Amino acid sequence: MNAESSAAAAGSAPAEFLTECRRIAGAAFVLTSADDMAPYLTDWRGRFTGRAAAVLRPSTVPQVAALVAACAQWRVPLVPQGGKTGLVLGGIPDASGAAVVLSLARLNTVRAVDPVNRTMTVDAGCILQHVQEAAAQAGCLFPLSLAAEGSCTIGGNLSTNAGGTAVLRYGNTRELCLGLEVVTPQGEIWDGLRGLRKDNTGYDLRDLFIGAEGTLGIITGAVLKLHPQPRASITALAALPSPAHALRLLSTMQDRCGASLTAFELMSSFCLQLVARHFPQLPKPFTQEHGQYVLLELSSSESEQHAIALLETGIGAALEEGSISDAVVANSVAQSAGLWQLREHIPLAQAADGKNIKHDISLPVSRIADFIGVTAPLLEQAFPGCQLVCFGHLGDGNLHFNVAPPPGISNEDFLSKQDRVNRVVHDSVMDFGGSISAEHGIGALKREELAHYKSAVELNMMRAIKAALDPLGIMNPGKIL
Ligand SMILES: Cc1cc2nc3c(=O)[nH]c(=O)nc-3n(C[C@H](O)[C@H](O)[C@H](O)COP(=O)(O)OP(=O)(O)OC[C@H]3O[C@@H](n4cnc5c(N)ncnc54)[C@H](O)[C@@H]3O)c2cc1C
Repeated sequence: MNAESSAAAAGSAPAEFLTECRRIAGAAFVLTSADDMAPYLTDWRGRFTGRAAAVLRPSTVPQVAALVAACAQWRVPLVPQGGKTGLVLGGIPDASGAAVVLSLARLNTVRAVDPVNRTMTVDAGCILQHVQEAAAQAGCLFPLSLAAEGSCTIGGNLSTNAGGTAVLRYGNTRELCLGLEVVTPQGEIWDGLRGLRKDNTGYDLRDLFIGAEGTLGIITGAVLKLHPQPRASITALAALPSPAHALRLLSTMQDRCGASLTAFELMSSFCLQLVARHFPQLPKPFTQEHGQYVLLELSSSESEQHAIALLETGIGAALEEGSISDAVVANSVAQSAGLWQLREHIPLAQAADGKNIKHDISLPVSRIADFIGVTAPLLEQAFPGCQLVCFGHLGDGNLHFNVAPPPGISNEDFLSKQDRVNRVVHDSVMDFGGSISAEHGIGALKREELAHYKSAVELNMMRAIKAALDPLGIMNPGKIL
């Protein structure tokens, strides 16, 4: 065996390396046949299929460490993978076939729950929904919530610093994590599983690995922050003329309801038309068309009556000041779920309608209406007849600002203009002081856009961190940088 030879350059992993992997993880958990590897190689949206030398499926942290050490010894690049729901091709290997996929799916134990410290310690491969359920069984709330929660893993959530629908009240995944356990690119185990809310002992290594998309190390465990379970939640859908009205509604609700406001989701009228077209069985809460809709949720730690009273006060004030035209309040759990389904079906309705060019952007909340007001006409000017599918977590300043082809133009024709569409949207995002990736990350998909927009100073600091922690460059190469 020649440990110095680069397996990446050779385009395949040496046989000795695979023998070592089988010794570490067990032969049944080192997949090398095309059929066995297929489920790990295509991204969630089915846009890209990569190749791999093997898929490794360890079940313990020492196994992960030993596998990474073997990758370092044989210079085999590795791609960490959780639930594979990422939307920027971060967890999928490239087309060279040089890398191995390291799936964390078998590390799926809830290690401990401490209701007094309000923390739980989990393996990185735990499915988000199982983490939520384990927290609920202990009488607590783990508030991270997203439409992929039945499949995504906590390691993937941490590695992408996932957002979701409760950021307004509870923050991103970063704010929900107190400690990490990480396998370094050298195959060492860093035990940073501290359940501390205060810990000023030098550089914050935890925050480096969160959002690093597997380019600096492999997260194997985490201490998560728990919150008290609300006694009641109540959902409403407001109809209003414009995004500017939605911002006024947000201010009013925040002034009146404070931290009880847990979600504030904007949906344009076109989004709900798409949902009605493709999912006619879902509720149609208003008989009349309105320009925009806001789905809002309030939670109360006191009682349902308290939640209703808060909501009525906020909605009443909004009607009086003219920021909303109409509103429906869910009066049962089923009705509330129905309203949430409208929001959750937008991406599905979009997909059923055809391809579109997606942007996951964030802006200062105060500038969102102006951004939409300026950018929509710029797109119309450059691509006449294109259709904007604009929705998102308005309370966090996060929009999914997707552009669908004009009627009569084929998906392929329109997708060939992707770079130009991105330039119009992302230039405008930068003009408004925003970010080209709010919650999905960079992965392989937005790498060039990152290089285009980040300053040289910022990129150089990022490269220095990468080179210091992963000098061999084996951790998820080609992602982010
Ligand atoms: C229907 C749908 C709705 C979604 N809604 C949202 C949303 O509201 N908000 C949001 O933020 N995202 C959303 N996403 C995106 C996605 O669910 C998140 O990015 C999620 O956090 C990815 O988790 P995963 O386990 O699937 O990670 P994967 O897709 O497997 O991996 C994502 C990245 O993390 C790395 N990685 C995974 N596990 C580890 C680990 N243990 N250690 C180191 N690196 C690791 C991978 O290499 C990759 O770069 C949605 C996706 C879908 C399909």
